[in-house]
Amino acid sequence: MIAEQPLHILAFGAHPDDVEIGMGGTIAKHTASGYRVGIIDLTEAEMSSNGTVELRKQEAERANVALNVTVRDNLRLPDRGLRVEQEHIDAVVRAIRYHRPRIVFMPYWEDRHPDHIQCSRIVQEAVFNAKLRRYMPEMPAHQVEQVYFYFINDSVSPQLVLDISDVYEQKRQSLLAYESQFTKPNGSDDLVATPLNQGYVERVEARDALLGQGRGMAYAEGFMLKGPYQVSLFK
Ligand SMILES: [Zn+2]
Repeated sequence: MIAEQPLHILAFGAHPDDVEIGMGGTIAKHTASGYRVGIIDLTEAEMSSNGTVELRKQEAERANVALNVTVRDNLRLPDRGLRVEQEHIDAVVRAIRYHRPRIVFMPYWEDRHPDHIQCSRIVQEAVFNAKLRRYMPEMPAHQVEQVYFYFINDSVSPQLVLDISDVYEQKRQSLLAYESQFTKPNGSDDLVATPLNQGYVERVEARDALLGQGRGMAYAEGFMLKGPYQVSLFK
């Protein structure tokens, strides 16, 4: 009913590759330090213009290896059909209660892709419901200590930054694992041009470099919070 060992971090994305884009470096840094980190994708991205569900699954597995992810799961909710509704919230509540993470990450609440916004809303609702002991009482309630938001397509000046310079190669490998999404069509394959295969990986890299600039970091990832950041000691 619940996992043998809890996770330190659980990151949710609407599609396999969202988490890698927004916080692949952060995940690599934590797994390198021995933390248990999980990724849960809400959909199998079955509406993507390129690639197939099966291919995307294999690509996600390659990304897991690049980042040393402890657990990766997919809730198989409908791509382009994510809604803030009971069934979708409960699927996320079950995942949170099963893995009992201290920290949950989700997409930033504004993004040009509506699925990313829906994912953010569903996970926020689920974090709240997961701690209510009378909600789905068949599973023990779980209180997440802190929630952070990562950026996918659109970003604002972040409230928190993390230096990911020393693990950047791992982030790059995790992104390049999604070959079906990021490979440019050459005319002889059945790929079509999308924003993802027109220099998207390079733009993610440029964003990460720009964020580190002026802070003495070659690359950084940025995060947002709702509510205060909790500390036990200032270190
Ligand atoms: Zn996405």
